[in-house]
Amino acid sequence: MAIDCIFCKIISGDIPAKILSETTHSISFLDAFPLAKGHVLVIPKNHRQKIQDMSKEENADLFSLVHTMLSKVDSIAGATLMAVHNGKDAGQEVPHVHVHLVPRSADDSAGAIHSMFDSDLTLSASELNELYDELKI
Ligand code: AMP
Ligand code: ZN
Repeated sequence: MAIDCIFCKIISGDIPAKILSETTHSISFLDAFPLAKGHVLVIPKNHRQKIQDMSKEENADLFSLVHTMLSKVDSIAGATLMAVHNGKDAGQEVPHVHVHLVPRSADDSAGAIHSMFDSDLTLSASELNELYDELKI
């Protein structure tokens, strides 16, 4: 447990939350400041800042709960945004892994992923090849 982490405090019961489900390594609960009706967070019980900081077992457990909760959340509006801000510079405000499940509808104010970025990035063929070599497993 990280002392100053609000999500660790939800897990320990020190601050209240509308907990929806629990598995061995994960819980889901209602976001306290929802972006849409039915905004749910799924988090690991252990304090981990980034997805890759979780063990494979914690990761599998978390995404299994995401899979379970998605069918519930998706029934609210018929479509769902699933998002993870993986690190502070990616917009992560709470430094404890959380998967956002946000019901979406055609007339809401959010757009496609490209609408988040003011970018006209184009990569040359050699840059693309370098990147490919860097990321390929
Ligand atoms: P992020 O900006 O991706 O780190 O998301 C943090 C999320 O945690 C936001 O959607 C907040 O509304 C939510 N949040 C913050 N405090 C609480 C809380 N006490 N209970 C439930 N959700 C919270
Ligand atoms: Zn934490």
